[in-house]
Amino acid sequence: MPIRVAIIGSGPAGFYTASALLKTCPNCEIDIIERLPTPYGLIRGGVAPDHQTTKKIANKYEQTALMERVRFYGNVEVGRDVSLTEMREMYDAVVLAVGARSDRRLSIPGADKLGVYGSAAFVGWYNGHPDFQNLNPYLDTPSVAVIGNGNVAIDCARVLMRSAYGRARTDLPDPVTEAIDRSPINEVHVLGRRGPADAAFTNVELRELGLLTQAAPRVRAEQMPSDIDAALAGYEKREHRVRQRNLTTLADYAERPPGDKPKALHLEFYASPVEILGDGRAEAIRCERTRVIDGRAEGTGTFFEIPCGLVISAIGYRAEPLDGAPFDDARGIIPNTSGRIEAGLYAVGWIKRGPVGVISTNRPDGEQAARHIQDDNPPEGDPSKTGHQCLEALLHERGRRWVCFDEWKRIDEMEKTAAEDGAPRRKFISVDEMLSALDNDNSE
Ligand SMILES: Cc1cc2nc3c(=O)[nH]c(=O)nc-3n(C[C@H](O)[C@H](O)[C@H](O)COP(=O)(O)OP(=O)(O)OC[C@H]3O[C@@H](n4cnc5c(N)ncnc54)[C@H](O)[C@@H]3O)c2cc1C
Repeated sequence: MPIRVAIIGSGPAGFYTASALLKTCPNCEIDIIERLPTPYGLIRGGVAPDHQTTKKIANKYEQTALMERVRFYGNVEVGRDVSLTEMREMYDAVVLAVGARSDRRLSIPGADKLGVYGSAAFVGWYNGHPDFQNLNPYLDTPSVAVIGNGNVAIDCARVLMRSAYGRARTDLPDPVTEAIDRSPINEVHVLGRRGPADAAFTNVELRELGLLTQAAPRVRAEQMPSDIDAALAGYEKREHRVRQRNLTTLADYAERPPGDKPKALHLEFYASPVEILGDGRAEAIRCERTRVIDGRAEGTGTFFEIPCGLVISAIGYRAEPLDGAPFDDARGIIPNTSGRIEAGLYAVGWIKRGPVGVISTNRPDGEQAARHIQDDNPPEGDPSKTGHQCLEALLHERGRRWVCFDEWKRIDEMEKTAAEDGAPRRKFISVDEMLSALDNDNSE
């Protein structure tokens, strides 16, 4: 009897788990359950559309999905189509790889005004994620504020500032491209509460801003530290190196003459947003100037305002609880001990650790879960757990149409075929569109 494993979620953490199980557990059969018809989680729906090279990691995941012992059930949501309790009855082991899909709440007055969006929604919109296609963000403004000092903040700013030529080489959905084309946005202000030394950008992302053809990165020279060693004093060696590189890049931006690029991307430090102003709709953001004492930002009592009709809050992500699994609301994760929730139930990726780290940070989670599954199971699986046979019967009974990996490959092919010159694909942006395209394809 095989050991039947269900992995809930097909992002990096889910795929690294499947790949580790294939290597270490020759008797495992793996079913990957995904709420969307499309696999790969934030690789498709989070990584920026102009970072296609990063998205190529999906080719590796595809090799895993094509292995004989792996099945993919897209368009099946645990908690909606099948409960976690039912999954546990059908499988010897269930691995939760569901990520962290909501925004950390921006809790300042005015955060609920029109024109204020969380980055999960905004990024989902520009990446064609079906959940966010009705967002219709307000872009009819010359000026935007992006709150946050990580790569997601930079992604949002860069996507808005890219030239039409640059955007044509991405897989931004047509309605997004059209909305950006129509928009008069010519200034983006990326706001960080602490100083340039504390920003969490990676250096590659920061340097990319200097290569934009239509927008110039702007940094205030007076915000750059005069004593770099003192500014980096609290950071350990590796972090110190990355931040030192960032300071070099930022110093270069601070020294550059304004030039003649028509748009400006301001990196504004020591700026703590305290209120979003406007009559029902965002019209400006009010910030308090800060100073950094012992690594913490402290208000100075001086306030300033930046006019802006669009505010994007990129201050982090949050997981949602899943019925049938415990949830630590304060930390926004499923409580676990090194990935084990209890025997038979495991967590990997952002739902295990919280929303931090890069794609490869999820790999050790998968390896760890695979080890737990081997340790917790006898060499043979439980004969009463019939895995996908039972799952398929249940989905049939409930009238749920699932999408197998071959069907995803057809969606993939249709998207690539529909792309205009230079673009990698033209995404389907609703589940209905994907399912009808498959059904029409079947009837031909
Ligand atoms: C905007 C953004 C940009 C990023 N860019 C980069 C980058 O350029 N480079 C980099 O290295 N890292 C990047 N990251 C980080 C990287 O994307 C994450 O480390 C990684 O995606 C986390 O993997 P995960 O599998 O835990 O979650 P996810 O990738 O979110 O995958 C979770 C999957 O589970 C599915 N799911 C959720 N609930 C259910 C359910 N109930 N039933 C079935 N399926 C479900 C979701 O639909 C999703 O497919 C970025 C992150 C964000 C937010």
